[in-house]
Amino acid sequence: MPRPIEAVVHPGALRHNLGRARAAAPQARVWAVVKANAYGHGLERVFDALRGADGFALLDLAEAERLRALGWRGPILLLEGCFEPRDLETCSRLDLWHTVHRAEQIDWLAMHKTQRPHQVFLKLNSGMNRLGFAPTEFRAAWLRLGGLTQVESVTLMTHFADADGARGIAAPLAVFDAVAGELSGERSLFNSAALLRHARGDFGDLPARLQSDWVRPGIMLYGSSPDHPDTAAEAWGLQPAMSLRARLIGVQALRAGDSVGYGSRYTAERAQRIGVVACGYADGYPRVAPSGTPVLVDGVRSQVLGRVSMDMITVDLDPVPQAGPGSEVVLWGRSAAGPVLPIDEVAAAAGTLGYELMCGVAPRVPVRVE
Ligand code: PLP
Repeated sequence: MPRPIEAVVHPGALRHNLGRARAAAPQARVWAVVKANAYGHGLERVFDALRGADGFALLDLAEAERLRALGWRGPILLLEGCFEPRDLETCSRLDLWHTVHRAEQIDWLAMHKTQRPHQVFLKLNSGMNRLGFAPTEFRAAWLRLGGLTQVESVTLMTHFADADGARGIAAPLAVFDAVAGELSGERSLFNSAALLRHARGDFGDLPARLQSDWVRPGIMLYGSSPDHPDTAAEAWGLQPAMSLRARLIGVQALRAGDSVGYGSRYTAERAQRIGVVACGYADGYPRVAPSGTPVLVDGVRSQVLGRVSMDMITVDLDPVPQAGPGSEVVLWGRSAAGPVLPIDEVAAAAGTLGYELMCGVAPRVPVRVE
């Protein structure tokens, strides 16, 4: 009998969430962002459910190769572009679209001998200060790319630093408009937060030159809210695409004054039953999750008590007196019986984001598609 823990990937939820992205921007084409092995879900596991997208966006040439091996013939975009000149060969061979965010990448293109002209996404640094041309350099880069026979099309792109927060997208959009508003070419601006919040009307009406021809949703496809706690995933109409489920492998009866786990971080104030769950930080559950972090036991909401250890966590069984060894414990996602524990609530308790939890499920956890 394998250790009783599994991650379950839900293709129906992925399909549903892709539909939500389409509904939020009916006029746009959709890049399904599947970097980091589809945010930890597994590229091969999500492919079929997301193949209704117009393209797939990722970072890694090896992941692009895997997508082609799955039979995907449509567009694939490299969000960080080429890392060295010979990557252009791979782009030509696999017909990859790629981001250009620094001048050297244009030099490589200018020297590249190819029969197949490239589709390029030219990235503006609109304030995030990670990748992208400075506003003062952007137009020159656009002109240079436009003059290369190696380049077939240039899409104008930026990535927002605060689309999920109070600052919103007004300032970077103003930067984009000033620099790129009058340049010809399609636009790709919106990630999940921008897409959903724009559709809700948070940013008012945008002129056509600031609409996205291509949107780039990632996290919403996997059913986590891009702006938790302001709006819960369910309120955005999203469904969890991954559930981490384990079982109770032990039960302890504590007396008042007994404590639990390493560091004796939790002490019972009265007689209390606790359950021991076959999941720990070596499975990707965050060690920093404090007592009080929510779990579902047999579909009923309960909480972590005491410290998370490598292979186990301990949970309160008071809300579920019937629970015992073998009972299902949902660490996040959907219980087999239906109730949902949003990954964002667990992440918030641990001081992180759904992104990190889903990307961090450990290789030792078996994954099932259901
Ligand atoms: N576009 C770019 C350039 C990104 O780096 C990312 C992810 O970080 C996305 C789109 C998708 O963002 P999200 O997962 O917040 O929708």
